Amino acid sequence: MSKGKSIMVDTSRCTACRGCQVACKQWNGLPGTKTRQVGTYQNPQDVSAETWKLVRFSEGIKENGKPYWYFFSEQCRHCLEPPCVDSIGGYQPEGAMRDEATGAVIFKPASKEAPLEEVKGACPYNIPRQDAKSKEFFKCTMCLDRITNNRIPACVQSCPTGAMAFGERDAIVEMVKKRVEELKKTYPKAMALNPDEVRVIYIVTDDPKKYHQYAVA
Ligand code: SF4
Ligand code: SF4
Repeated sequence: MSKGKSIMVDTSRCTACRGCQVACKQWNGLPGTKTRQVGTYQNPQDVSAETWKLVRFSEGIKENGKPYWYFFSEQCRHCLEPPCVDSIGGYQPEGAMRDEATGAVIFKPASKEAPLEEVKGACPYNIPRQDAKSKEFFKCTMCLDRITNNRIPACVQSCPTGAMAFGERDAIVEMVKKRVEELKKTYPKAMALNPDEVRVIYIVTDDPKKYHQYAVA
């Protein structure tokens, strides 16, 4: 299935305000995560069963000697052919599903039958996380409860800079293509990440590995 919905995340427009990260917690009733300062604005340090959207901060020195500070508003990519569904399904068919109309990939309570390392290892983006007590797997749901009621995902709604957009897959793919062409005029390395394989399509202006180890499959 390649119709359904998609999200664009244009990192060139992201200011790392973390509005999307907070909006995700708020809409999904997720608790705050206890953290400590470790020398970066990234907080918390990783996605978890209670943090489904995380703005990653990455800094370093470019090939030309100039510094970079990149932001990557991470979440499940809602793969067109999601290997996590097969992985969890091998243990419990009711544990994970793909919504036919939207393409959203959803984990269910029965996902707890599957082993963490196997499910995490199946995901090219290192996204699935397990609740320590219930053993149930959690991640972004594309706000399926909102998008099936004519609303856009909470993260997209919260974004003040236009870095995120949601809509029909064909329209978003077209939007991504146009934006990459525009960005290439200033940033020759601009590219979309795995656009033919995922519904949440990221745009970067430099080597994806500079943004995050699992930015690209
Ligand atoms: Fe599954 Fe990972 Fe793809 Fe999300 S990004 S649909 S968790 S394989
Ligand atoms: Fe970036 Fe938009 Fe998220 Fe703010 S809300 S961190 S600008 S993607």
